[in-house]
Amino acid sequence: MIRHRGPRALAVDEVAAVERAFPGRARLDVDHRTRYDAAVTDLLDRCGWEASAGFELTDDMRLTIAARAAILAIGFDETPLGAVRTIVVHPSTIMLSSVRRGAIPGTVSDGPMPVAGHTAARGPVFLAWNQVAGDRRHPRRHRDVVLHEFAHQLDFLDGAGDGTPPLEGDRRRRWITICQMELDALRRGNGSALLRSYAATNPSEFFAVATEVFLTNGAALRDDRPLLHAVLADYYNVDPADWAGEEIPPSSTLTSADRDPSS
Ligand SMILES: [Zn+2]
Repeated sequence: MIRHRGPRALAVDEVAAVERAFPGRARLDVDHRTRYDAAVTDLLDRCGWEASAGFELTDDMRLTIAARAAILAIGFDETPLGAVRTIVVHPSTIMLSSVRRGAIPGTVSDGPMPVAGHTAARGPVFLAWNQVAGDRRHPRRHRDVVLHEFAHQLDFLDGAGDGTPPLEGDRRRRWITICQMELDALRRGNGSALLRSYAATNPSEFFAVATEVFLTNGAALRDDRPLLHAVLADYYNVDPADWAGEEIPPSSTLTSADRDPSS
């Protein structure tokens, strides 16, 4: 008997749900689609999926979340999301009550703070389902709480949530130089209009927000900030234009709905 190692293929009914959440799957070449599907089934089958008290987590919710998170893995031979063990889904905004960095640098805050998702090194990924669903209803906003929180997990892979994922040598130096330059530009008020202001919080949030924009609006980011697009393309090893369809809008007009909290 031949033992198949590694993640299983997607079942037919799963493909439909996955492509509703990520229509770009249909445009991936065979190699990329194989990696993508493996990352989806890995998340579905290996992770613990939990719902907050009183909330019912459906298969469609699991498939939607895995379908979005796995976009991060398309360019990697092996899924980089293997450190994620638990995904916790809340029905709506999550109230964070732990002590954290305050809005003003150097301060801390312990008041309740509503967030659409959060995660920590070696910890679960917490997601608010209403935000996940809202992001899918409005793809042209290029917001994606799933990509955002799982990007933080990539940032944690080298031990530090410092805005730089595991990269060596020149690639690492180039990443840090370009991202710091763009972060400084945002803070001066002349950064990319594609990156919402939350990206200026710190290098870690910059990476997470830039990842959302790169993977959902890559062509616009390339036109607007080619150097930033280049370092993201180097790390993720993909060109999102390869799967762009409805994910890329006809214009880069941003919505004004930019006030929801992320973390
Ligand atoms: Zn964040």
